[in-house]
Amino acid sequence: MAQTTCMRALKGTFVAGLALAAAALITPARAQAQTTGSIFGLPLGQPQASATGGHPLMTPQALADAQANFPQCIASLWPLAQAKGVSRRTFERYTASLEPQMKIMEFMDSQPEFSKPIGAYVNMLVTEWRVKKGREILERYKPIFEKVEKAYGVDRYAVAAIWGIESTYGDPDGIGRRNVLESTATLSCIGRRQDYFRDEFIATLQILEKDDVPYDHMKGSWAGAFGPTQFMPTSFQRFAVDFDGDGKRNVVDSIPDIIASTANNLKLDGWELGKAWGYEVVLPQGFDYRNANRSIKRTLGEWNTMGLRRASGLAFPRPADTAYLLLPAGANGPAFLMMKNFDAILKYNPADAYALAIGHLADRLKGGGAFAQSWPKEERGLSKAERQEIQSRLAQMGYDIGNVDGILGQKTRVAIQDYQARSGALPDGYPDLQLLQQMRR
Ligand code: CA
Repeated sequence: MAQTTCMRALKGTFVAGLALAAAALITPARAQAQTTGSIFGLPLGQPQASATGGHPLMTPQALADAQANFPQCIASLWPLAQAKGVSRRTFERYTASLEPQMKIMEFMDSQPEFSKPIGAYVNMLVTEWRVKKGREILERYKPIFEKVEKAYGVDRYAVAAIWGIESTYGDPDGIGRRNVLESTATLSCIGRRQDYFRDEFIATLQILEKDDVPYDHMKGSWAGAFGPTQFMPTSFQRFAVDFDGDGKRNVVDSIPDIIASTANNLKLDGWELGKAWGYEVVLPQGFDYRNANRSIKRTLGEWNTMGLRRASGLAFPRPADTAYLLLPAGANGPAFLMMKNFDAILKYNPADAYALAIGHLADRLKGGGAFAQSWPKEERGLSKAERQEIQSRLAQMGYDIGNVDGILGQKTRVAIQDYQARSGALPDGYPDLQLLQQMRR
């Protein structure tokens, strides 16, 4: 199921506004974030039937027309491929018998009705089994992890955590079994994200041209994320490295290449070796929750002076480092001071829930314990309609929340905080059913 398959998210402009919506949501599916506008779908029950009627390129007639035109469409992409160094021989060899995979169109638009609360999401991903298995992998490939850590300056635990969460350490079901060329070709010529996926299709052909990964081994999610750490073809082009020295950047079959390429990705996204991604903190009595705002950055020393303490009881090792306060589940859940490495993980996949799971699993692999504070008991997260209703109501009250798109970003969070403060509630900015019910009164 695409919804439960971890898919490496994509980088690009489309995702920039989505990071804050993550608390509301779901599975590491960067590609899905791109294609559905929601972040990830981890169904609580069955996903809703696909809503393919919403977009002019997704109507049954448009899909049938695009399917009929598929061979001509693929042929028309030759100049683009040629410009990227793909030979005519390679292009013909791999596109001659391509068939569109229409099933993918259903995955593209299927979304779970309700988002999953972040605590349940983190607990589902950071399991004792994943910790145990991850430690085994760190031990088994210790010399490689050491070499990569030295070469790229990225903590091995973060790399192992991405490997563990993206594909359950390389489980074929976690990686996905769809042929990447077929998937990206289909999405390039059919449906509503053709422009976006054309680059992925061309990048796939470039990989085949260089024979970095054998054709039969390029298996992945419906959106084309492949290998144990789920590289999209274009992110492969940017980040993959040949670490075992055989001349191929093989992020599917070579453990050194997988580990080094993933580390290189985090490095280029700003990872700082040996530093924490963030700290779980305990807030002082009478704390003003409006300080939980991604744009308010202070040094750890300043936060400490305001009364914030590490949940572990230890001191902050580098009090001059800056951080922002994140309450992923509101005032009733754990609080965190987030630093640069958290943002590096967010670039890998722009969802707080995902980044928190990666960071936490990395800490657990290193020997750390569970979070000290518990998650609030929530039956379910909000549906898209409910998130949009919160936004509409805020807009009616005169708040600038941007578009009513069901994506609760920074503007919406700050508006919620102000609304909460005015109505005498704790201004934690957390959108839940309770908030919605209060707004309806
Ligand atoms: Ca190699």
